[in-house]
This record gives sequence, structure tokens and C-alpha cells, in this order.
Amino acid sequence: YTAAIYASRADISPVVYEGVQPGGQLTTTTDIENYPGFENGISGQGLVSVMRAQAVRLGADVRTGAITSADLSQRPFRIVVDGSDEILAETLIIATGATAKYLGLPSETKFRGLGVSACATCDGFFYRKKTVAVVGGGDTACEEATYLAGLCKKVYMIVRRDVLRASEAMQERVRNTENIEILWNCNTQEVLGDEYGVTGARLERKGGEIFDIAVDGFFLAIGHHPNSELFSKWVNVDKEGYIVTDGKTSKTNVEGVFAAGDVQDPLYRQCVTAAASGCRAALDAEVIAHGGGNINSGTLVGLVFGAGTEEYVLPVIGAEGAAVFPLRKAVASVVVNLHPGAAAHGFVLAVLDVQRHIRFADLISGLHDLGRI
Ligand code: NDP
Repeated sequence: YTAAIYASRADISPVVYEGVQPGGQLTTTTDIENYPGFENGISGQGLVSVMRAQAVRLGADVRTGAITSADLSQRPFRIVVDGSDEILAETLIIATGATAKYLGLPSETKFRGLGVSACATCDGFFYRKKTVAVVGGGDTACEEATYLAGLCKKVYMIVRRDVLRASEAMQERVRNTENIEILWNCNTQEVLGDEYGVTGARLERKGGEIFDIAVDGFFLAIGHHPNSELFSKWVNVDKEGYIVTDGKTSKTNVEGVFAAGDVQDPLYRQCVTAAASGCRAALDAEVIAHGGGNINSGTLVGLVFGAGTEEYVLPVIGAEGAAVFPLRKAVASVVVNLHPGAAAHGFVLAVLDVQRHIRFADLISGLHDLGRI
């Protein structure tokens, strides 16, 4: 929805297909207390609803339907909706998210949102001073267990082998946290609960011993699965299936195809980081949609930097024919085909792209001198 909000404001007229679970993982969580702007938190469903409404108000064409296949071999891209309708798109932003892996137990499904969660950062706060379990032995499980240990009275880690898969550093953190107890060689048979939610878990230890633990929260941390299958024939994905993007941009290896949110983010996977990457994708897409590299009003076409007789043009957005402005203060100037109100997008890209080469303050003063800001 964030990509749609930005794309709408940039007059790209985005069409959004919401997929089989409109709003994605957010709708399966309870309250969200770490999304800025909501002093008292907001429900996952509530946040999704206001984001959707905002996108619609700004002009996004939000449609019900799931993409069932896609052909990205040439532009316009061919996208099939619900197995039948085909639409053509010059520019595509893939924001299909990721799906947390669950164990597949019926009792786990029954208590989802009532004590069963796959996101400690989202839901851990509700288990302050309580006892919880985390299933998994990877980096995520260790990270979530240590995070929860800071809030909860006690954290069990349910590990199916006698070793952790996590990096040594993460294992060390777990070992050094007093209120984490690892239950080795254990698999979960059932999540236990009553009408109010989770009360415990029934475990089976290798060898056949079956025992119950009393917990108020049951967290899954056995990995995520990025929803990239539909596109992985064309866009590059890493070994886990996450779409690979180019540096700090949202660009994939296919020109005109961008990726945003959890489908390209194996690390942070937060609502706010996903929203931010949706913004990036829309800004990247805007450049293509508004001319695909030609110099347009309001488009930042290049950065000129260097000193003395040497001048370099760094095409920020793949533009050709960027005019070279004389350098100011022998540091930097920015080529902007001025159009009130529109240059700001390009400007942000520019700062991101050049900050390794020049000082931000010099860039700003160069722009001032040129009358660009
Ligand atoms: P991983 O695939 O690394 O680990 C999954 C864990 O869950 C493993 O311990 C696995 O057990 C266990 N597991 C899988 N299926 C089941 C099951 N059905 N029942 C019980 N246990 C199960 O996933 P992560 O999400 O931990 O990490 C994904 C990637 O992200 C990794 O590359 C990781 O390094 C990285 N990451 C890095 C972080 C950091 O650097 N701060 C933080 C978080 C993630 P087993 O070992 O037996 O297969």
C-alpha cells in the first residue's frame, strides 16, 4: 500500500492486486505498537485498513484478485489474475511479502493470534513477565528468544536437534541469558489452550518421552518463505528465494521490475521497513514510468562531481545526455531539469547515491548556489 500511495501521488495510476490475504502478515498479528504515528498502537487489521483507504483516496486502483502467473520476458509485462484475466504492465512492483513457516499443527492454527505468533518483535510485548516458548534453533529463534527474555519471566527454546543452527555469536547470547532454557531434541506435538488462548505445549523428546510445559505464548521462528515463486523464472533470487535488488534501490535484474517489502528482505522484516521499501520502489518506478531514462521535467538526470579539469557525470537514474554543470566549490553540483515540486524525489535519490563520494553539506551548498533548492 505504501508503494501505491507514492505511485498515486506521482500520477502513475497504479493498479494494486491484493492477493489471497489482503494486507499480508500484518493481518495475522494482534496489536502493532512499533509503527510510528500511533501513540497507543493499532491493530494489524486496522493499520492495513487505513493504509488501503489512503492509497484509494489518492487514486490507486485497488482490486481484489491474486496474480496466478506472470510473463516478464518482455515489456509490457503480462500478468494473469485469478487464472483468467490478463493485464499488461509497463512497470511492476513485486510486494508479495513472505510467509512465516508454521509447524502445521491444527492446534497451532486454532490459537494463532491467541498466543501463537511468528513475530516476537510484534507480539512479545504482550507477554511481559510471562512464560513463553520459541520454536527453532536458527539466528531468528535465538534473536527472538533473547528479545523475549528481556520482557518475559522465562523463555523456553524448543530445538529439534542437539545443536543450534544459529551463528556462534547468537548462540553465545542465548547461553549468556539466564532466563532462557533450551529443550534439546524436542518436537511439538500440540499447542495446548483454553477459550482464552495458549496455556502450554506438549512436547516429545527424541527417545519417546512426552511432557507438557506451561506457557502463555508460543512463538514460531523456524524460518520464512518469500513469496517469489511466480517471478523467480525472470528475476534473480538468492538461495532462500528472496528477490535480489540492486544496492540500495528496489531494482531487480529485469528493467521495469522492482521489489519491495519482505519478498526482498530476509533480515529486518518489519512493517515500517517494508513500508519504507515500498516508498523506494514507487520512486524508482516513477522514474521509469515518466520516461524511462529520458530527461523529463522534474527528473534528476545526473550528478556531476570531481575537481579541476576532471568532471564525472554519475547518472543517478540511468539517464542519457545529462548536461554537465560547472562544479561549485570543486565538489558537486546536481543537474536538475527544474519543475517546481517534482525535483524533490530525485533529490533524495541523489543524496543517497552520492553520499559516499561527497560531503552532504557540500552537496547542499552546491545546490543552493545553483538555485536548485
Ligand atoms: P533458519 O533456516 O536458519 O533456521 C530455522 C531453524 O528452525 C533451524 O534451527 C531448524 O532446525 C528449525 N526448524 C525448521 N523447521 C522446523 C520444524 N518443522 N520443527 C522444528 N524446528 C524446525 O531460519 P532463520 O529464520 O533463523 O534464519 C534465516 C536466515 O536469516 C539465516 O541465514 C540467518 O542466518 C539469517 N538471520 C540473521 C540474523 C542476524 O544476523 N542477526 C537474524 C535472523 C536471521 P534445524 O537446524 O534442525 O534444521
